[in-house]
Amino acid sequence: MRSSLKTLDAELKIEIGPENVKNQDEVEFAVVWNHPEGLLLNYPNLKAILSCGHGADSLLSDKKLPEGVPIVCLRSEIVAEWMSEYLLAVVLLKRRKLMEHATNQGIIEWGIDIRVSGNQVSVLGLGFLGQAAAKVFLQMGFNVGGWSRTQKRVKGVKCYTGIEGLNEMLIKTDYLINLLPLTIQTHDLLNTETLSQLKRGAYLINVGRGETLVEEDLIPLLDDGHLSGACLDVFRTEPLAEGHPFWKHKKILITPHNSSSTPPYTVAPQILENYRRAISGHQLFNLVDLEHGY
Ligand code: NDP
Repeated sequence: MRSSLKTLDAELKIEIGPENVKNQDEVEFAVVWNHPEGLLLNYPNLKAILSCGHGADSLLSDKKLPEGVPIVCLRSEIVAEWMSEYLLAVVLLKRRKLMEHATNQGIIEWGIDIRVSGNQVSVLGLGFLGQAAAKVFLQMGFNVGGWSRTQKRVKGVKCYTGIEGLNEMLIKTDYLINLLPLTIQTHDLLNTETLSQLKRGAYLINVGRGETLVEEDLIPLLDDGHLSGACLDVFRTEPLAEGHPFWKHKKILITPHNSSSTPPYTVAPQILENYRRAISGHQLFNLVDLEHGY
């Protein structure tokens, strides 16, 4: 990140890591990810804090944040493109049974089943990433629904809100994609009760945050066939513990929180712009809404 920022502004003074900060009073803008609790209280002249990702849950979990300092996060087109590509790949992998074909090949079995499952994709979270993914599925001819906190209007997407809206969406769903931020409201949202609302045989993809899924509720739903499978990119504890039952479950596909990522050069311009706005007292963008926690 340092070199990407320096390429844009060679005069920028950047210190990496609290141990390298020579004068704490000089720190005006903090770029953080998984920082130690209370660290940001050391910088009395902080004008803004940037959570170096799309989510702000890790930053907001710090109960000792400086009061009144605005928090911003990143919004990256590349992250959205990569995320949409991953989600499409997973849905097509499942829909066209490519894993079964790979297994058949291993046992020299021809296999002729060409039936494909339903085509209703539902996205939890119709924000920056959710809307980008919804558009990709629409282009591919899927029926797409989406759920958000406030009512959305997205061309071609059936938009839902509230618990009633969630249930209405779930009963139609063949592929459920979680792209919600982690907040008090979304914590444990995907549990036996909500996942049981899904159409029998539905497939779950979790790329939002691990804490949104009650992990122990998933396996019984997979074992009794209510869910036909799950692709999980995020977990309550990362890396996933060696003995975790998800590793060996035949219906679970695991990826190591790499459904998308943020190349520094793609976000350096927006970091620099928010830094300049912060030090000149101008309105910041990509502000985190502290009331709603994302
Ligand atoms: P946004 O803030 O743009 O969108 C969040 C969406 O979730 C909004 O539509 C919002 O509703 C909705 N939402 C929030 N709370 C609720 C709620 N209680 N009920 C219903 N809907 C709700 O975030 P992004 O799209 O940029 O990112 C989403 C998340 O994806 C991140 O927070 C992060 O956790 C995860 N992520 C995972 C990555 C990975 O590699 N696995 C990479 C990047 C992000 P509304 O529109 O009404 O505000």
